[in-house]
Amino acid sequence: MKDFHRADKKLIKKINTVSILKVIRENGPISRADISKKIGLNPATVSSNVSDLLNLRIIKEIGSGESSGGRKPILLELNSNELYIIGVDMGIKKVTTGLIDIEGNIINKTILYYTENPDTDDVINVIKESIYEVVKGYDNDLDKVIGIGMGIHGVVDTEEGISIYAPAFNWHNIDIVKSFESEFNTSVIIDNDVRAMALGEKWFGKAKESKNFVLLNIGTGVGAGIYLNGSLYRGNNFGAGEIGHIRISDQRIKCKCGHYGCFDAIASGPGIVTRFIKGLKSGKSSSILNRMDIKDITSEKIYGEALKGDELSIQILRETGKYIGIGISMIVNILNPKMILIAGGVSRAEKFLFDEIKNTVFKKSINNNLKLLYIGETYLKENSGIVGAATLIIKDIFSI
Ligand SMILES: [Zn+2]
Repeated sequence: MKDFHRADKKLIKKINTVSILKVIRENGPISRADISKKIGLNPATVSSNVSDLLNLRIIKEIGSGESSGGRKPILLELNSNELYIIGVDMGIKKVTTGLIDIEGNIINKTILYYTENPDTDDVINVIKESIYEVVKGYDNDLDKVIGIGMGIHGVVDTEEGISIYAPAFNWHNIDIVKSFESEFNTSVIIDNDVRAMALGEKWFGKAKESKNFVLLNIGTGVGAGIYLNGSLYRGNNFGAGEIGHIRISDQRIKCKCGHYGCFDAIASGPGIVTRFIKGLKSGKSSSILNRMDIKDITSEKIYGEALKGDELSIQILRETGKYIGIGISMIVNILNPKMILIAGGVSRAEKFLFDEIKNTVFKKSINNNLKLLYIGETYLKENSGIVGAATLIIKDIFSI
């Protein structure tokens, strides 16, 4: 394979083949003649662009198609086995990294944990290690990788490739793209993690047909990816979707932002634990104390206890559903989306949450906005983060 040209994203974009590539993705397998008809380019231009794409091995020729007499045309389709994208979901304690093909399928996945209280270099080094790890054993290793997409929590300047503010690591203006592009010699695109998840759901998940939807991620924190009028909405300076800091309760529970009663402080995983412990301290009993110390209680453990029938655990989770419903009704009343997709660890307790969520949204939103509204889990579930991050690159390749 000496003639293999490394199909870097920039190279693909440089030749004017994006529209042809798009037609092949949407209609393949397809002949050169049909491509030419579909986009109104003359056959010679299509043919020469197709040659470039074949050379880059982003597409391949397969068998032959139907023919109305005469020579059967050769068909073209995406060469999914030859081109990979790395999707990095940078969590607060761990990084999940996926090797993803151009059609959004996961080829390999790896999870690495940071050290305790990591500094910037520690976090970046663990992410780099995870990238080397995930491509190990896949043919030419990094040679088939056409780009790296990364979802990072906090405020991200996607144009400059900078993490403006990542509260969990106390990052301010860290030049992520530069660091990764020089290490891996490939294109890198970063965005806010929840926004990337929303993009993944648009391309490969439940929101394919939806022009207006919101993905709500409820885990260690709470954030939203907003997709409006057919594109991601980032806000004036990348700060849209900070739904974790709208007030949803009068409870005096302090948020990390300094205010009280924020969505994040009340309904995130740690928020659930805080309210549960508050319940215990007010004298309520729970079977969880037969199993562990107060300090070992996590939201997952509360969910486990609820499944065993523990009353306090069930009550706290139902209440969580109500709070999430209050937050969602605000989104619904402001944006009138078609779908609210719920992702993140907390959504796994759907058995106790979803009825309460839906009842509350129904009570608190105006009727018109509830028409046709869908509320449910994401399609990509725990892989939303890595597939979404890879979609940052995939979208860029197929966008004119
Ligand atoms: Zn807050």
